[in-house]
Amino acid sequence: MFRIFCLLGAFSFLALLPANYLSAQENQPTFVEVVENDSPFLLERKATLPFFTSKASVVVSIIQDRIEKTTTALTDLATTFESIRLRQEMLKKSLGDVTEVLLKQIEEAEKILIGRAEKLKNVEEPDKKYLQENKKKLENIDAIMKTINSDDWVCPVADSVKFYDSWNEKRPRGIHRGVDIVGFHGADLYAPVDGEVVFFWDSVGGKSYKLTNENGDYYFGTHLYRFGKKSGKVSAGDVIGQLGAGGNATGPHLHFEFHPGPLGRGNGVNPYLIANRHCTDRIPMEMPLNHTDGEEKEKYLFPYGNFEWD
Ligand SMILES: [Zn+2]
Repeated sequence: MFRIFCLLGAFSFLALLPANYLSAQENQPTFVEVVENDSPFLLERKATLPFFTSKASVVVSIIQDRIEKTTTALTDLATTFESIRLRQEMLKKSLGDVTEVLLKQIEEAEKILIGRAEKLKNVEEPDKKYLQENKKKLENIDAIMKTINSDDWVCPVADSVKFYDSWNEKRPRGIHRGVDIVGFHGADLYAPVDGEVVFFWDSVGGKSYKLTNENGDYYFGTHLYRFGKKSGKVSAGDVIGQLGAGGNATGPHLHFEFHPGPLGRGNGVNPYLIANRHCTDRIPMEMPLNHTDGEEKEKYLFPYGNFEWD
């Protein structure tokens, strides 16, 4: 019993002693070091067994408290470091993606401008459709860049999310024309911009919303768990529903589309870079989604690659 107590004391007394007490010990050896199983243990010269016994419960509870606090602090620190590391990795990747896309777009825009100039010279053979298509392309690139650079645009899904660029992927029902933002079941869905929201039932995706703003930009979200409380005018950041796995979805995610105005619906573009810029609480696809309090939500885990999202 005393042996166990000595072991506990070895930790506690070092921790409990004020620093000046320890340094004072060199000159005024009130305490002596006792070796117990190679653990240093300071013992007060005058101390007797009843003294330790009377302090034992206090000491033990203080040790427990310290262990708990230290464990929490270390866990928090580890989580923070891990999160910083992940964010840095994501940022590095994002910047690479953006640069690559920008270069492609500049190259594309130059080709379009040259093509347009050539066509304009040849007035005898005007190709209106060609020019209109190119104009649309340039406008869409402009809309994507503006949205990426907007400070007011809000990530459509609350809390931690994960996604990848799945634009143009082949899916059982055709080519994928959106981004699948995987999140927690029941997570709030936010209006990305000010506009008019309408809720409706989609035969493929189940509960869905469409949101149109004054520029004619059209947003579509589907597989909702719940609709928002009311349709009509909303501001960016308003809750317009909850994330689910409705319709043909095989896991909780928001299938999200962006169709820039003025053409709006039918003029879909890849929303990946927009989500990439604005959905910053993001983890890599291969990692499970865990709540920020560390509590693991097993039933909401969707390991990458075990199902197809629509
Ligand atoms: Zn999808």
